[in-house]
Amino acid sequence: MHSKRSAPFLFACHWCKELKKVPTVKQIIKTIEEIAPRALALPGDPVGLQCGEPDRLVSRLMVSLDATLETVTQAAELNVDLLVTHHPLLFEPLTQENILGPAAKALVRAIREDLAVYSAHTNLDASADGINDSFASLLDLRERRVLQSSSPEYFKVVVYVPGEQLERVRSAAFRAGGGQVGDYSGCSFSIEGVGTFHPGEGTSPTIGLPGCDEKVQEARLEISVQPAVLGAVLADVRAAHPYEEPAIDVYPAISSIPGAGFGIAGVLPQSATVGQVAARVGSALNAGSMRLVGKKGRKVKRVAVCAGSGASLLDAAAAARAQLYITGDVKYHDARKAEEIGINLLDVGHFPPERYGLNRFGKLLEKKLAGLGLKIQVSYAKERDPFVPVS
Ligand SMILES: [Zn+2]
Repeated sequence: MHSKRSAPFLFACHWCKELKKVPTVKQIIKTIEEIAPRALALPGDPVGLQCGEPDRLVSRLMVSLDATLETVTQAAELNVDLLVTHHPLLFEPLTQENILGPAAKALVRAIREDLAVYSAHTNLDASADGINDSFASLLDLRERRVLQSSSPEYFKVVVYVPGEQLERVRSAAFRAGGGQVGDYSGCSFSIEGVGTFHPGEGTSPTIGLPGCDEKVQEARLEISVQPAVLGAVLADVRAAHPYEEPAIDVYPAISSIPGAGFGIAGVLPQSATVGQVAARVGSALNAGSMRLVGKKGRKVKRVAVCAGSGASLLDAAAAARAQLYITGDVKYHDARKAEEIGINLLDVGHFPPERYGLNRFGKLLEKKLAGLGLKIQVSYAKERDPFVPVS
């Protein structure tokens, strides 16, 4: 199978008179989602386009951790067309209670400025080239494995249909959105076999007679279907099927995406003390304050990392035999649990590793866009950690 890209819009720049390829928001999203497939996002995480027109042309793009009024204003002042954030602008739905809150204010400003905002959140956390990959690379971790694998769910729809009607049913499933696998559409499999059935009294079978055993040459058609279009595919397949009672099976399935998941465990190139590792991480991430549960002088070789709020993966880090787990947003009872388990736990804050990973993501995106011949000016919002050390 071959993927096909739509040609970017050609645009003669009035200022430099050179012929540039100017992509749309939609085309940039496609590239972002090659890095961070949307299917990797946790259920309920509102990743994707937060506001703006998918067909809007983009010459300037800004990367930021948050879509605050401050970052939206920075983007507007630099005439940015698309702001790509990690934390979704609409993380909480807008209601009467928060309609005057910070998210609503940032959204209103973005809309007024004709600024599109797109968020890649837990899909970027979980992607093989994502935020945690940057974190693990900072320590040059080897022999990596994810702490919690990410396996997007989809459905396998299996239909048994006489050979003559196979293409009609297959086409109906495709038209309803079935058979989409990544960038490929029209994906299916079929094989011939023998179907048997016994129409009961009072039935009106398409083939055979009520009360008589029947054997029919049928095809078994298999199509992958994403959850969002399952209802439409089943309805259209049923409508296109010649049988009174078509046999349609739906199996839940999970995708296997190599290297995708939350948190990474690995081995340091050389053993180091917890204090040495902490100093290295703190300096690379410019982490203003860090907190440790454990002993600074303890030598460690196996380390696990998870940017953001990763305390829920403490057990997974221990199961991966990590001697030190580095994450953020650690609560008191997480600290007590780490003591009990006997794992060193370093809290570097939420902001530092995510901001660090986003810079690397921005560079990767820029490189991928340049590889497509798309010259886009990429800038980075000036953001600060809301937590500052008191002394
Ligand atoms: Zn975060």
